[in-house]
Amino acid sequence: MINIVLFGPPGAGKGTQAEHLKEKYNLKHISTGDLFRYNIKNQTELGLLAKSYIDKGALVPDEVTIKMLNAKVEQHLESKGFIFDGFPRTEAQAVSLNELMASKNSQINAMIALEVDDEILVNRLLKRGKTSGRKDDANEDIIRNRIKVYYNETEVLKEFYKKENKYYGVDGVGSISEITDRISKVIDTL
Ligand code: ADP
Repeated sequence: MINIVLFGPPGAGKGTQAEHLKEKYNLKHISTGDLFRYNIKNQTELGLLAKSYIDKGALVPDEVTIKMLNAKVEQHLESKGFIFDGFPRTEAQAVSLNELMASKNSQINAMIALEVDDEILVNRLLKRGKTSGRKDDANEDIIRNRIKVYYNETEVLKEFYKKENKYYGVDGVGSISEITDRISKVIDTL
């Protein structure tokens, strides 16, 4: 298995790149944000709970997120590997993901972090908000809160994966295909 954590702040382009990479490398793409939005749309209990956090730009509690992620991985054990997009976002999630992979006799091979300046992120998200219908993209204060949450709670994970020698930074500014090429160069060395 090849398992990749695609990392970066909101608006860095993780979802877009994951869509290309999953085809190229035949991996299963799991986006926790997409899973939450699916649950919100279908008004499940999980969706109702998650919505109150997501609409504010806060993180959904670890316990809920980890359980959802584990269940999704269990459903796709036949796959050649996973691209994790939006997970882990906290150290507890990263520890849990390592445990999950180990329980499958596998591991995370790399964290690939997309690097994009904050002001570019805000502009990208405001633009996406015009068509995505996402409440958390519609308001600049909520967008800035998500970026703040990223720096306060999530960015430390770079250190977590650096310690495991699994961290790879990639410039996330350029055309979609240029960035896919940059990420592919990393994956091809794994
Ligand atoms: P983006 O990265 O563009 O902010 P996502 O679709 O990845 O968008 O996530 C949207 C929201 O879903 C986050 O702001 C957060 O509230 C929630 N969420 C997604 N993944 C996680 C996670 N791993 N832990 C906690 N909350 C999460």
